[in-house]
Amino acid sequence: MQTQQLRIRLEEIRANLAAASGGRYAPPEIIAVTKTHPAQDILPLAELGVESIGENRVQEILEKLPGLAENGEKFRIHLIGRLQTNKVKYIIDKVCMIQSVDRLSLAEEIDRQARKHGVRMPVLVQVSPAGEEQKGGMPPEDVRPFLEKLRQMPGVEVQGLMAVMPNTRDEAYLSGLFADMRRLFEQLREENIPGVRMEQLSMGMSGDYLLAARHGATMVRIGSALMGARSYPQHIE
Ligand SMILES: *Cc1c(COP(=O)(O)O)cnc(C)c1O
Repeated sequence: MQTQQLRIRLEEIRANLAAASGGRYAPPEIIAVTKTHPAQDILPLAELGVESIGENRVQEILEKLPGLAENGEKFRIHLIGRLQTNKVKYIIDKVCMIQSVDRLSLAEEIDRQARKHGVRMPVLVQVSPAGEEQKGGMPPEDVRPFLEKLRQMPGVEVQGLMAVMPNTRDEAYLSGLFADMRRLFEQLREENIPGVRMEQLSMGMSGDYLLAARHGATMVRIGSALMGARSYPQHIE
C-alpha cells in the first residue's frame, strides 16, 4: 500500500480521536492492527510515527519478523488475539505486550517463559463486558480475583485491561459497554493493588474507536480503517 494513502487515513483517524476524546481524556494511542498484511505494507507506518502494531497469530508474527527488521525498523508488537499456552515460548522475547490474558493457565505459562528469559512481560487482562466468551475475555466480576493471582507472578506485569466489543452498530448498547469498562478500570485503578499497574485500557476497533475514545480508551486497535482490506493468507491454528 502506498505511504500517501496510509498517511491520509492516519491523519483522519488521529483528528477523529482528538475530537472524540474531547479534552476529557488524552487521545488514545493507536495500535495499528497489521494482521493479514505483509511486512512491506507495514514498514511505511514507522515513518508516519506509528510504533505499535497489533498481531493476533503467533505463526504470522514469526513469518513477518525478518521483513519487519529489514530496514532496521523497530515496531513494538502487541499480541492481541487468542493465545494458545503452548505457543507462548515462541513469542515471549518478540512482543512488547500480551493483551489477551484471560485465564490462569495462560498467565502461568507467560510467567514461566518470562522468568526463563529474565523479563517481566507486560500484559492486559482481557475482559468480556458482553459475556461473549467465544471472543475471549473473562466476566468483569472475575477480574479482581484474577489480579490477585497475577500480582504474585514475578514474570507478569499487569498494565491494565483489554476488551473486544460485540459486532453491532447499536451505539447506545456499545456506549454502555465502553462505559462499564471505563468504570471497572477506574475502580481497579483507585484500589491501587500492590504489584498491579492499572494504566492501559485497550478498547475500540475500526468500527467503534470513536465511542471508545469518548469513553476513555487509552489504546485503540485499528486494523481495516487504517490498513485497508486484508491481503495476507490466513492461517488456521
Ligand atoms: C482484528 C482485530 C482488531 C482490529 O479490527 P478492525 O475492525 O480491522 O479494526 C482489533 N482487536 C482485535 C483483538 C482484533 O483481532
